Amino acid sequence: MDEFSFIKSIKQHTYKQPSLVKGIGDDAAVFRQTNQDIVTATDTMVEDIHFSRKTMNPFQIGYRALAVNLSDLAAMAAKPAFYLVSIVIPTYWRTEDVQGIFKGMQKLASSYSMDLIGGDTTSGKELCVSVTIIGYSNQNKARYRHSAKPGDIVFATGTLGDSRAGFHMLMNPGVYRDYNYFVRRHRTPSPRVSFAMNLDNVSRMALNDISDGIASEASEIAEASGVSLVLKYADLPASSHYNQFTTGQRRKWQLFGGEDFELVGTVAELEWPVLSQVACETDTAITKIGYVTEQQHSFVYLQEESQCNPLDKQGYTHLKQVRPDE
Ligand code: ADP
Ligand code: MG
Repeated sequence: MDEFSFIKSIKQHTYKQPSLVKGIGDDAAVFRQTNQDIVTATDTMVEDIHFSRKTMNPFQIGYRALAVNLSDLAAMAAKPAFYLVSIVIPTYWRTEDVQGIFKGMQKLASSYSMDLIGGDTTSGKELCVSVTIIGYSNQNKARYRHSAKPGDIVFATGTLGDSRAGFHMLMNPGVYRDYNYFVRRHRTPSPRVSFAMNLDNVSRMALNDISDGIASEASEIAEASGVSLVLKYADLPASSHYNQFTTGQRRKWQLFGGEDFELVGTVAELEWPVLSQVACETDTAITKIGYVTEQQHSFVYLQEESQCNPLDKQGYTHLKQVRPDE
């Protein structure tokens, strides 16, 4: 299939976003925005580094590539609107499979009424999907990592360690409980968009998404805000049946596993009820997992039983090949 027919095959027939003026088909897309802040992010996934066909089909690869970007937008508390996709296609990928990647993205995009408004298509040695996402937030309502203050509560959405557990199950066939749940959490994560989009009534909060593990994400908040965070290990939220894994696996995956695409944030104690209300309205579990303290060094501490020690980042760095399993 030539490039022209390929682009035609992935193009939406109709667009949903009212602010769109020109979608796919010209040299660039055009949208009009007058009164909101525009929030944009991009993320790239390379075959055999960020995903493998051994554990994911094309649909899931696409779904996940967009989910990763949506999670960045959620971490800014923005409402998603558009995405653009640059794809490098190697000759050993069949056209139907590449189209499968776009179907996966469309599936997730449609649940947020997002439109695919452009991209680029080239050939190359390995499959590489780069997604750029664009969304809106009310003026000065985007949420940053630098907003944490001593005394704040640290919270996390959902449960931690599930994606890494799902990956473990895929790599180590065996008898597991809730196999489908864990594998789904790995392949087709659900970024916390609805929760994040509804946080305008919280006057101050720091927010970050959990792509590299809570240790690493909490440390980004600590560094950006010039504070320290204390996380209580016993309070980290876990799924039911997460206890089927060894203590060592559970600890490692919850703290450093990442790719859960949950959110970690901090808010003043006083604003916790507002946050709980939004969590309730958007059907999002939130858990208090620690607190912010004043410290010269921007550290993350882990309180575990009677001990409180600095926590190493050790988040997955994305520079390795597909992770060797332990
Ligand atoms: P140009 O030569 O101006 O870059 P292209 O032939 O690359 O134009 O693309 C034609 C149209 O198709 C543009 O609107 C572009 O944004 C869109 N497009 C190309 N590749 C993709 C893709 N992978 N996903 C979405 N839109 C794409
Ligand atoms: Mg082009």
